[in-house]
Amino acid sequence: MWGTKEGLDFLVSETLKARYLRKGERDWEDICERVAKAIAITEEEHLGFKDLMIRKIFLPSSPTLMNAGTEFGQFAACFVIPVEDGIEEIFDAIKTTALIQKTGGGTGFDFSQIRPDDSPSLCADGAASGPVAVMKLFNEATEIVKQFGRRRGANMGILNVSHNDIVYFIRAKHVEGELSNFNLSVLVPDTFMELVEADRVGEVWNKQTGMTVGCIFSEIVEGIWRNGEPGILFYDRINRDNFTPALGDISATNPCGEEPLLPFESCNLGSINVSFFVTDGKVNWDLLREVTGKAVRFLDNEIDKNTYPAPEIEAATKRTRKVGLGVMGFHDMLLKLGLPYDSSETLKLAEKIMEQISWAAVRESRKLAAEKEPFPEHENSTWELPMRNAALTAVAPTGTISILAGCSAGIEPVFSWVYRRTRTVGKEFMLVHPLFEAHFMSKLPEVDYNWLLEHVYKHGTLQNVENPKLVSEEEKRIFRSALDIDWKAHINVQAAFQRHCHAGISKTINMPDYAGKEDIKQALIYAWRQGLKGLTIYRTGSRQHVVLSLKKPE
Ligand code: ADP
Repeated sequence: MWGTKEGLDFLVSETLKARYLRKGERDWEDICERVAKAIAITEEEHLGFKDLMIRKIFLPSSPTLMNAGTEFGQFAACFVIPVEDGIEEIFDAIKTTALIQKTGGGTGFDFSQIRPDDSPSLCADGAASGPVAVMKLFNEATEIVKQFGRRRGANMGILNVSHNDIVYFIRAKHVEGELSNFNLSVLVPDTFMELVEADRVGEVWNKQTGMTVGCIFSEIVEGIWRNGEPGILFYDRINRDNFTPALGDISATNPCGEEPLLPFESCNLGSINVSFFVTDGKVNWDLLREVTGKAVRFLDNEIDKNTYPAPEIEAATKRTRKVGLGVMGFHDMLLKLGLPYDSSETLKLAEKIMEQISWAAVRESRKLAAEKEPFPEHENSTWELPMRNAALTAVAPTGTISILAGCSAGIEPVFSWVYRRTRTVGKEFMLVHPLFEAHFMSKLPEVDYNWLLEHVYKHGTLQNVENPKLVSEEEKRIFRSALDIDWKAHINVQAAFQRHCHAGISKTINMPDYAGKEDIKQALIYAWRQGLKGLTIYRTGSRQHVVLSLKKPE
């Protein structure tokens, strides 16, 4: 199926049917009514929230859309569950995880407390099994819960780079299909990255195992080069933005990395479609700040109305009242403004967007603190003035809600202008990006336009179109998709958003299949230096199953 409107409408209606429509509901408006009513406290809020959702200016994340106003009533997308080193503790954590995943939430774990493989266990007979074996248990539990839940569960497994089993962990997914319900991330401190940067790779990092910095780092690089895993999390950078250090250090995030959380904390996400705010080449900043205020109220209400999967989660969440407000539609916004993704204007805009949203969110959180109460741990926090929420902003992937909103996902560049979409809803069909279509359809005669579509589908890019009448140099600059953009530009955009974001940013740094291990090494060092909290790199074609797939060049 070619063409935008029908394709997108079809995709939206299939997605709604597969996941979001509850009994008796017919369309998107019905969902908005149910969700807005469940989250609002006053009638004014109810109408305001519903309007934002119907117009797809702001959307809460999937668990809220699926569960608000239903018997589940669980709204949060992000959880971090501690895993202590003991049988009882491990199976308690698995139970809590199962209860969360049943409601569509994603879970993250730091497995560093688990004693290494082959170390003596507390009961004399039988060896301890190590973090990777424990992760396999969690993975199986997720597999089972899938049959009861509304979506396939997602986990983040984290291991400190100082753990004896680190290499075993890094290699845990080398066999395709192993730990398939997990993303893996290695947690590294600045001291490790400093040694890497200084090329002091011969230094012994782990005295017990004798492993050197170079050996561990090259395992990480090799893993990423092979299949995009592990991701990396920068421990010190994350903890510099820990707004409640008195409650302990942060060593884990949710599955996609945008929410570093303390043990048992959960977080509701919501995203503003920033492309909506562009009219006639101008950004309506006043309106963006106004919408931000409403979105903060929405997410803050959720904390009180939520049905929590476990009492510890409710207690930890209500202590800090973190919410994760972010953006989607960033690349669409750039297209509407005629800005290339990899340009200095784009970096300035990115920084301004996040600065404005964070600023307006803090302002609203202060108002809420005055109206209601500040978050209970406020006195123990790094915030000077009373706040309702310890952290307010985060950029989620918006994998599904950006489809519903009909905009580009999160802050990602468009993956391809013409693509087929597979797997998510079980069908396969062709889509053309609406802003690409609007631009080239009005400019080119039909026969040329169709030729261009075929070309872009076949090659995955328009950068190699030689006829300047079809695609000018300027158009080549603007219509760059994820793989046309240099890894440094990807990281620069992520860093620009991170500068004013309280929590983290979920983003994939795409690299072409011919990228080498040296590129990956340099990208990790650069990302750390740019102040990112974590990094996910994906080299084209290195994993077999991808949701968005380009046709291979013939
Ligand atoms: P959506 O667009 O569906 O709202 P996102 O793609 O923005 O979701 O993901 C936001 C967060 O939701 C993720 O970081 C993760 O914590 C959680 N999440 C995403 N997909 C899943 C899943 N399949 N199962 C459980 N949690 C998920």
